[in-house]
Amino acid sequence: MKKVIKNGQIVTDTEVFKGDILIEDEKIVRVGEDIGCDDAEVIDAEGMYVMPGAVDVHTHMDLDVGFARAVDDFYDGTVAAACGGTTTIVDHMAFGPKDCSLWHQVNEYHRLADGNAVVDYGFHGVFQHVHGDTFDEMKEIKEEEGITSFKVYLTYDYRLEDDEVFRVLRAAKEAGIVITVHCENHGVLTQLRKELPEQGHTEAKYHPLSRPARCEAEAVNRMIHIAAMAGDAPLYIVHLSSAEGLHEVMKARAENRPNLGVETCIQYLILNDSAYDDPEEGLKAIMSPPLRKDQDREELWQALAEGGIIDTVATDHCPFHFKEGKAEKQYGRDDFTKCPNGAPGVQERLMLLFSEGFMKGRISLPQVVRYASAEPCRMFGMYPQKGSLEPGTDADIVMIDPAGKTVIDRAYIRGASDYSCYEGMTLDGRIDRVLLRGSEIARDGKFTGSRGDGRYLRRGESVLISKK
Ligand SMILES: [Zn+2]
Repeated sequence: MKKVIKNGQIVTDTEVFKGDILIEDEKIVRVGEDIGCDDAEVIDAEGMYVMPGAVDVHTHMDLDVGFARAVDDFYDGTVAAACGGTTTIVDHMAFGPKDCSLWHQVNEYHRLADGNAVVDYGFHGVFQHVHGDTFDEMKEIKEEEGITSFKVYLTYDYRLEDDEVFRVLRAAKEAGIVITVHCENHGVLTQLRKELPEQGHTEAKYHPLSRPARCEAEAVNRMIHIAAMAGDAPLYIVHLSSAEGLHEVMKARAENRPNLGVETCIQYLILNDSAYDDPEEGLKAIMSPPLRKDQDREELWQALAEGGIIDTVATDHCPFHFKEGKAEKQYGRDDFTKCPNGAPGVQERLMLLFSEGFMKGRISLPQVVRYASAEPCRMFGMYPQKGSLEPGTDADIVMIDPAGKTVIDRAYIRGASDYSCYEGMTLDGRIDRVLLRGSEIARDGKFTGSRGDGRYLRRGESVLISKK
């Protein structure tokens, strides 16, 4: 099978140029001008941007939080990803049973994803304790599964204490593994989440007050210092949401702190805490960390424009139903602390970054590729196989027509959830088609692939390791 994408504006993370891309079977074989190939299917990309498929390194498909389960399984969630131009995900696992081996969730996630995912996928491992065999298991999983990143949480039931995080970081550095951290101060937010409902403050608008930006900033700062004390261990901060948190990152950047990766998520760039004003609608946006103020959004955009501060834009995609089915979001109706945390975003991310970022002049087109595709792959050991258009790499490609429009309404939604946080928005630009390893998986917002098309990705080492 040969295909040639003709006359598009090709976008990489460094440049934009007019050209053609020749694909043979699953790979890109040539990128250049006037590529002739008689036996190739021709895809006309005149007037379109031709970019590497987007890569979302923070999703929670089929997440089981005990009292609720995310409504997108690996099929529905990756169909939404595909329709939104995302051809690879790296999913963050749920916690397993108490005291389980690190292998428990790896095996469980293969059971959930294999044969179901429609885009290529990998997993981040997760620590929920530090026992005798934990670090040996981590090394085995890296060797046998190509899982080169693990997560720790500083809050929730299976949070790690600082001494444990310190040991994890030290062992991970030794093993060439990146530790990703959910940074929030557990003590303060636990106290606030207890106090606020006791004072009768049960509505959604109290959710952001229960998890203040300084909870994030304190934990970001603490992790940066603990990672330094662990021998400059590779550290990746997930879902940075606030200006206060960003300032801690900027301080570390100014000190040239090595081996630090930072992710924000699309919702922190697009939405603000006015989403919580309405007691009912506000449940849709209950997620942790919460949405912040416009000032926070603006500073995050500025950091993206400046470059070298934030590395990736992901989603933390973790949808629950608002009204349909079990309507899990309604568990928070009388008390926001009972609402399952999370919202959809895997389908919307790329076009939001394109429309609100590039088309509105906040960031450049190569920066869209950098934050949505290339850097996520460098951070998690998939580059250049994913996230680039280099000859010899996977032909994962998204074509965007900048003259088109994307209306986000109920009909737009391809995942299982019954709402989008972005309903009512009309975006500049439209995804024309999406290729995964050379095969079309989405066109004009419709899924055209098949269940199980996605392949499990064994990942290599992060750029945070090789930098030293
Ligand atoms: Zn998450």
